[in-house]
Amino acid sequence: MREAFFILLVLAILLGLTAIRYRKQIVTMLHIWRSLKSMREKSGERQVKTEKSEQLGPLVNCSKCGTWVPEQRAIKLRGGTFYCSSNCLETAAKTNS
Ligand SMILES: [Zn+2]
Repeated sequence: MREAFFILLVLAILLGLTAIRYRKQIVTMLHIWRSLKSMREKSGERQVKTEKSEQLGPLVNCSKCGTWVPEQRAIKLRGGTFYCSSNCLETAAKTNS
């Protein structure tokens, strides 16, 4: 009976050691998988960004500060003047009045 118990103990230790080994492998695998996933997400974001910039159309020149901005993102006035932001629009309105 003692021998059987000893064998079981050794088997338990071996199982524990293999579990620790597998745990390390699983951790490294998870780490690699996460980095790959984050890389995929980043590349996906890049694709979305380029698609968005393509959808925004041609660049227009801000008549206040001269910054080139996509037409859809710019603030357009009736006279055909563009502003890159509400700040530029406000400062232009203040200087005009
Ligand atoms: Zn501007």
